[in-house]
Amino acid sequence: MTLERLGFVGLGRMGGPMAGRLLDAGYQLTIYDVSDEALAPLVARGAKRASSAAEVASAAEIVLTSLPTPPIVESAGIGPGGIVEGSKAEVMLDMSTTGPATAKRIAAGLAAKRIQWVDCPVSGGIKGAVNGTLALMVSCPKESFERVRPILEVFGKIFYIGEKPGLAQVVKLGNNMMAAAAIIVAAEALAMGVKAGVNPRVMNDVLNASTGRNTATTDKVPRSILPGTFDFGFATGLSYKDVRLCVDEAEAMGVPMLAGGMVREILAITNAKYGSHSDFTCLAKLIEEWAGVEIRG
Ligand code: NAD
Repeated sequence: MTLERLGFVGLGRMGGPMAGRLLDAGYQLTIYDVSDEALAPLVARGAKRASSAAEVASAAEIVLTSLPTPPIVESAGIGPGGIVEGSKAEVMLDMSTTGPATAKRIAAGLAAKRIQWVDCPVSGGIKGAVNGTLALMVSCPKESFERVRPILEVFGKIFYIGEKPGLAQVVKLGNNMMAAAAIIVAAEALAMGVKAGVNPRVMNDVLNASTGRNTATTDKVPRSILPGTFDFGFATGLSYKDVRLCVDEAEAMGVPMLAGGMVREILAITNAKYGSHSDFTCLAKLIEEWAGVEIRG
């Protein structure tokens, strides 16, 4: 079945597999990315290549974005050559993690051209993007939500958060602060176990059957830390960006986030030491180095 033509800007680790799922579902796609490498596999599958976000927005009424940083999302939305300059776009559906302040600014910029902003940060990593098991947090007017709902169903489980732009971003930032915190506390506990002489695989099994269980012990530790591959699929630079946005937002709202502040500082060190392109499971590598042990099973 052939469905309507959609636009997609940003075909990276998340956007690539999500666009692939849309092609599988029968949608036609016009796509744009600054990287040829990111575009090639989708063009080979029939997606049409554009040379700017504006060109994508002149080919499709609904344009999805999955881009790395808030300034890049803002520029692809309302900057020169952005979606706002397209002749056809009616909706910009953003699945990046931008934080609420950027979301509100882009929503206002698009509204001037009668383009509706839909905030849709996602959680569940590359595995979720490939398998269609992401958690999708949506904030936008109800009408727009109904319009994009069939598209979002291709990606996973949908949670409608509310009407206000940026509201879904608040939920996402809280989640990502907790996901990074989980790696740090799991690595601290496991490093202590290793140093005392406990097999970390056995200790992690115990944690998973006990009250210390979290998304690091169930997922990141077995997949990327015990094998020493540090390749979970989420960049340290992006995690650092998310936790910075989270703590800034909490501070601006007068909400205490002391533990979150600590997570941000540990990410700052990991980012400086291993680079922004390293995997965020390198948080555990840092703890290993400080403790003088390796958490390997
Ligand atoms: P990525 O770096 O793998 O992909 C981003 C893509 O955007 C790249 O292909 C890059 O070439 C492209 N790009 C950069 N600047 C561009 C521009 N100006 N115009 C067009 N394309 C441009 O990042 P990712 O891991 O796919 O993450 C994308 C977004 O999703 C981020 O906001 C991230 O925080 C969020 N996210 C990531 C994960 C994850 O596990 N990787 C999970 C949930 C949410």
